[in-house]
Amino acid sequence: MLAKRLQNLHPYVPGEQPNDREYIKLNANENPYSPHQSVSQAVQDAAVNLPQKMGLYPDPDVTQLREEIAAMLNKTGGSFWSAECSGSEPESDCKPAPQNKLPFTVTSDMILCGNGSDEVLSFVFYTFFDSDRPLIMPQFTYSFYPVYCGYYDIPMKQIALNADWSLDTETMLTEANKTDSSIIFANPNAPTGIALSREAVRKMLQRAPKDRVFIVDEAYCDFGGESCIPLLAEFDNLVIVRTFSKSLSLAGMRLGYIVSSPDLVKAVFQVKNSFNHFPVDFIAQTAAKASCKATPYYVQNAKQIAQERDIFTAFLREHGWFVIDSATNFVFAKKKGLAGRDVYEAVKKQGILIRHFATPGIEDFVRITIGTPQQMAQLKTIMEAL
Ligand SMILES: *Cc1c(COP(=O)(O)O)cnc(C)c1O
Repeated sequence: MLAKRLQNLHPYVPGEQPNDREYIKLNANENPYSPHQSVSQAVQDAAVNLPQKMGLYPDPDVTQLREEIAAMLNKTGGSFWSAECSGSEPESDCKPAPQNKLPFTVTSDMILCGNGSDEVLSFVFYTFFDSDRPLIMPQFTYSFYPVYCGYYDIPMKQIALNADWSLDTETMLTEANKTDSSIIFANPNAPTGIALSREAVRKMLQRAPKDRVFIVDEAYCDFGGESCIPLLAEFDNLVIVRTFSKSLSLAGMRLGYIVSSPDLVKAVFQVKNSFNHFPVDFIAQTAAKASCKATPYYVQNAKQIAQERDIFTAFLREHGWFVIDSATNFVFAKKKGLAGRDVYEAVKKQGILIRHFATPGIEDFVRITIGTPQQMAQLKTIMEAL
């Protein structure tokens, strides 16, 4: 009964979301801070004052939200942790750090929204990758990319990381040019947490095939990376993927987007409209619009998380752990003599969920999402005793 294509499916396994017990969740890189209260208020107002809107189809083009996203990117340069805001209230002014000032204004025709960046990635894979050549990606990166390759029957070439866990950009470029292929990676990368500078990405783009799209997934950029949005001024083949799930505390609302040239965005719109006109529901659009207006609050949270990450990294190192320098809201760490699975089990017993991977090569590591200072204090007490 099953279609043959199902043989190529190897579903993504997300961090567990248990219902049986109250755990502190440091396993899915969610944001420990609630959305700004103006977001809850906007959702409540919409549900109470405009209930008829829940019976109508939402705006298929997500017009207002795309304008709000563009405004947020222009105000921050696509990087919360380094943006300069006068306060944390929605009315506060924000401007990008001087080095992140955009050389152009992002406009809404450069943006497409979807039901989480996972769905947006699915549209991107369908739009740009064929089965006639491999897609180039790092061996360890976001594990949804191989899943979509199976789903769409796209061959892939996974390139081993350097010994220090950074991307082997030389080999990625060599392989991409050999087969005239696209490249995809997360920047900062997951689960390693290492960021590539914008200048390093520029150098890659200069040498990568010009007639193929080049995808940079910036899910974690707001916690310590440099956004590649400025590079859109120089490269028509660049597609940047971003999400509201991490720095905007909205993982439960499912909202992701791409930033790219209007022409490429138009092509992805064609794909979206051939699959589902309405991937972003009315309530999600409402919540996300209010979130963009509250940017200064999220800028403050991203800075707090980045600071807590650096404190936690130092703590682990003092206690004999190997910790990769992270530019994200998580750390990737291991300790001699401890298997990742055992650390995960021990910490879970005490009420905190973290993540480990059975994948050969990284099975010694655990990935720990940065929570509030209180949550991290609790985790430190547990990890000290390991
Ligand atoms: C979390 C994550 C996503 C998915 O985000 P959603 O918008 O929640 O679907 C995409 N890419 C990377 C690298 C991520 O870590």
